[in-house]
Amino acid sequence: MEEKLARRRVVLVPVPAQGHISPMMQLAKTLHSKGSSITVVQTKFNYFNPSDDFTDFQFITIPESIPESDFKNLGPIQFLFKLNKECQVSFKDCLGQLLLQQSNEISCVIYDEFMYFAESAAKEFKLPSVIFSTTSATAFACRSVFDKLYTNDVLALLKEHKGQQEELVPEFYPLRYKDFPVSRFASLESIMEVYRNTVDKRTASSVIINTASCLESSSLSFLQQQQLQIPVYSIGPLHMVASTPTSLLEENKSCIEWLNKQRANSVIYISLGSIALMEINEIMEVASGLAASNQHFLWVIRPGSIPGSEWTETLSEEFSKMVSDRGYIVKWAPQKEVLAHPAVGGFWSHCGWNSTLESISEGVPMICRPFSGDQKVNARYLECVWKTGIQVEGALDRGAVERAVKRLMVDEEGEEMRKRAISLKEELRASVRSGGSLHNSLEEFVDFMRTL
Ligand code: UDP
Repeated sequence: MEEKLARRRVVLVPVPAQGHISPMMQLAKTLHSKGSSITVVQTKFNYFNPSDDFTDFQFITIPESIPESDFKNLGPIQFLFKLNKECQVSFKDCLGQLLLQQSNEISCVIYDEFMYFAESAAKEFKLPSVIFSTTSATAFACRSVFDKLYTNDVLALLKEHKGQQEELVPEFYPLRYKDFPVSRFASLESIMEVYRNTVDKRTASSVIINTASCLESSSLSFLQQQQLQIPVYSIGPLHMVASTPTSLLEENKSCIEWLNKQRANSVIYISLGSIALMEINEIMEVASGLAASNQHFLWVIRPGSIPGSEWTETLSEEFSKMVSDRGYIVKWAPQKEVLAHPAVGGFWSHCGWNSTLESISEGVPMICRPFSGDQKVNARYLECVWKTGIQVEGALDRGAVERAVKRLMVDEEGEEMRKRAISLKEELRASVRSGGSLHNSLEEFVDFMRTL
């Protein structure tokens, strides 16, 4: 059977952002291991430079005329609009060329839901298309009802009557209106427009979501039974099936040596992913709270993540002193390795979906400080559904930081969360094994591909 797939090529179109490229490349690796040939189509933005791990893959860069400055200045939502507009024609040309050149058939185009331009090109060539969602099923479900909420004026109300944001959204327990995935980078109207484009499934033949049924069974049922008329495959966490290097930035491995010198479960790892920003005053409050908590910490501060500063040069000597006493700072860490390290007992995170999955799959409980979009959904689930996280809401002062860190790293409450996280980790590991839910879902998708 694998031979049949081997003659068939899958064309993948990732969003040019770390949190989207990693799961797409993991999916590519997984399908390759099942016998597919792989073509990855990207643009010059956040170009994924393939390592030796991807020698069998074909990488194609399609042209567009978006200036680099737009990538930095537009904000992710406006940039996505522009990218979708600009890539429509060049992707169509690219697919046309591929069809002429390929001796083997193209079985389908798998595109990140935010790269919706790919769908119309696939349709034009009568190629099946598959949507890939790199967010949680719950965030996906929220996006699919956004339009309804909007036409009911609920979101308009939200904008004006902040008090209502604390209320629970009917049918989406335990999400509150304020947990809905709106972005701080764009107006509600722009977000609505992007969501309308992603939610409109047009001619897509199926949806893959990088999630596990043991984490989100009710959201997956809601999507399959009430929202989508096409098959939904929960194939995740993909990093557990395909461990492959996907980092756009160089990982500083020296932090592993530092971790090797620390006691088990004694270090809190702090990272806000690849996009979130943190103001200087917030950094100082976190550093002071950490100092007061007496816990050791490994902190990723990305260059450019402090507005107005290249890296940490604008931080005070007081900050350097606090760090040198009990911390270690890197610009970018080998995150999965860090989370798997026995010294790491907690993760202070912005709750991006990849970070959430990576933490759960290593049994590491979290302090949740979501920044934007679907991170708020994930934080709420971590705290109220999986009960492996503490959300820090409101103003970020040193007292709140100290309390949260002690609750997680010192108190009995944190120990209970760690036990729950470890039991989720075991469930996820079982799901990867033969007969487990991830394993089965992947096999079903591969069978489905054979029918395309
Ligand atoms: N990451 C990493 N090193 C770091 C920080 C983050 O390798 O120092 C990786 C992390 O493992 C995750 C991705 O970057 O896979 C971030 O994705 P996520 O969805 O958590 O957040 P986003 O960057 O999309 O906001």
